[in-house]
Amino acid sequence: MSTKYEKITCKRVLGKFGFFGTRFWTTYTFDPYEKCEFNCVYCNTCTKGYGDSLDNSIPVNVKLNAPQVLAGELDQLKRKGVLRMGIWSDPYQPVEGKYRITKQILELLKEHEFPFAIGTKSDLILRDLDLISEASRKFHCCVALSFSTLDEKLGKLLEPNAPSPKRRLEVVRRLSEAGITTGIWLAPIFPYWTDSEEEIGRTIETAVENGVNFVLGAVYDNRNPIKFAKFLEEHLVQFASKYKRLYARDRPCHYPDDEFYLQNLAMKFISQCQKRGVERFLPHFSTRKQAWLFYLRNFSKIEGSPFVGFTQLLNYLSPSQEILQTIRIRLGNHGISKAFLNVFGYFPH
Ligand code: SF4
Repeated sequence: MSTKYEKITCKRVLGKFGFFGTRFWTTYTFDPYEKCEFNCVYCNTCTKGYGDSLDNSIPVNVKLNAPQVLAGELDQLKRKGVLRMGIWSDPYQPVEGKYRITKQILELLKEHEFPFAIGTKSDLILRDLDLISEASRKFHCCVALSFSTLDEKLGKLLEPNAPSPKRRLEVVRRLSEAGITTGIWLAPIFPYWTDSEEEIGRTIETAVENGVNFVLGAVYDNRNPIKFAKFLEEHLVQFASKYKRLYARDRPCHYPDDEFYLQNLAMKFISQCQKRGVERFLPHFSTRKQAWLFYLRNFSKIEGSPFVGFTQLLNYLSPSQEILQTIRIRLGNHGISKAFLNVFGYFPH
C-alpha cells in the first residue's frame, strides 16, 4: 500500500531550541514534512501527537507553503544560527521525491548563506549533492546519516522502509568525497544487543573508512514504549523483560534508569572514537553564549546526581573548540575565518 500525502499550509515553520535545548546542537529546527514513511520501529515521532503508530495508512503532511513562509522568517531573524532539518521526520523520505520541499528550502538557505545541518537515512539526498557541496564551500553546513546497525537483516527489521545500511554508507562516502562535512549518528544504540564495544567500534571504523568527519551517538530512548515492546515480543523476546526493568522509571529523555550503564556506554563510545581519531560532535555551535550555557547546564549537579544528557556526554567538545566552531559558523568559510582557524590548526575540512 502506498503512503498517502496530505498538503497542508502553515503560518510559521521555524522551530527554536534556544539556549537550553541543545540536544541537537542547533538553534533552529525545521521539518518539511510531518510524520515519516520510513516507519522505524524505534521512532518516537508518534510522541509528537501523531497517534500510536505510523503505518502507511496515516498520511504524511506536506508543508507546501514552507519555502515562502521560511523566506519571510529568515528575513526577520536578527542573527544567524544553525538550522537543523530532520528532527521529527526525515527530510528526504520518499515524499520529497515528489514535492521537493527540502530542496527548495536548501536553495533558500544557500541564497541567505544560512548554516544548516541535515539528518537523514535516505539516499535521495544525493539528488542535492551539488547544491549542498556548493553551499558548503561558502558557509557552514553538514550532513549526518543515521545508523542503528550495519547488519542488513536487522536493519530491515528495525527500519523497514529506509535504504539499507550498505546504501547509506555509500551515501556517506559520496557526500564526503564531495567535500561536505559528513558524519553519522550511531543511534539508537540498543542496550544488550548493539551496545558491545566491538560492535560500536566496528560501526565507527566503517564510518571512518567511508570518510566521516564526526560520529554522534545516542542510546535508545523509550519514548514509544508500546510499539517497541511489541517489536521485542515478536522478534527479540529474550530482551523484553530486561528492557522492562531498564526503562521501568521514566527518566529525563526516557533514557535507561541506570547511571552506571550510561556512563559505561559513554566510555566505550568515547574510547572507540578516540582510537579511530574521529570527532564526537556535531560540528557547530551558533553562539559562544550557547556553548557556555550548554556547559553550565550539563556539567552542574542536578537533583543530587550529575545527570548528563547522554547525547551531550557522548558528543562532548571542549569550550575552546566550541569557540572556534562558533567563529567558523559566524564568519563562514571566508578568508578571515580560514586564516584564524588555521592559526589554531582547526578545522576538519
Ligand atoms: S527515519 Fe527517523 S523520523 Fe523517519 S521513521 Fe525512522 S527514526 Fe522516525
